[in-house]
Amino acid sequence: MSIAENIAQVKANIERAALAAGRDPKEILLVGATKMNDADRVREAIAAGLPCCGENRVQELLEKNEAGAYAGAQLHFIGTLQKNKAKYLVGLVSLIHSVDSVELMKEISRQAVKRGIRQDILIEVNTGGEASKSGLAPGELANVLEKAGEFPGIFVRGLMTIPPICRAPEENLPYFDLLRQLFIDNGEKKYDNVCMDFMSMGMSGDYEAAIACGANIVRVGTAIFGQRHYPEKQA
Ligand SMILES: *Cc1c(COP(=O)(O)O)cnc(C)c1O
Repeated sequence: MSIAENIAQVKANIERAALAAGRDPKEILLVGATKMNDADRVREAIAAGLPCCGENRVQELLEKNEAGAYAGAQLHFIGTLQKNKAKYLVGLVSLIHSVDSVELMKEISRQAVKRGIRQDILIEVNTGGEASKSGLAPGELANVLEKAGEFPGIFVRGLMTIPPICRAPEENLPYFDLLRQLFIDNGEKKYDNVCMDFMSMGMSGDYEAAIACGANIVRVGTAIFGQRHYPEKQA
């Protein structure tokens, strides 16, 4: 299957899942997780109708951006972000999905204020409670949203989660439901610099389940680009 065929298939699946949930397919943004795919493959995906690219390493994003890989599409950052690298992304990407501390929010705001802009971000929640995963504990979320009002350079547009690796998509439903509940509960409160517009959840194995739970941003890599070939680990 070509990248174009895969994108058509994923879009058809998104449409079907949205309609089954009584939702408008147009409200769901497909983010192609482009990591480990070079500029040519990214361009091929955009030409085939991919509306948005999501990178998860700053260095890789900067190199591919330099090569003009993202022309014609939105660009998001979806990976773990170290505070000292925020300066490379602010103003370059339209959304940072993975903010999980007040310190990182503060640094993104500082960089945005310097540039005279406001950076859209999502807050990442560790819905599975795994120690190995990034993201805020659900119980910390309200506190962090409260703090967003102190940072004029950011605008919190919603929430993101990466659930534990599951064998079947249905196993992720409790995590997706938890994110939706947090999204609804916190959306009803009035926090400064916060507007709950986006719920980013669902990857190749489970984006349809995520859409059933209310996702309006899905991040799909393998189902578009095929298996990634990670370099073999040293023994
Ligand atoms: C790679 C990646 C994805 C996509 O994963 P696939 O299973 O290949 O679809 C989604 N979200 C994040 C944060 C990623 O790093």
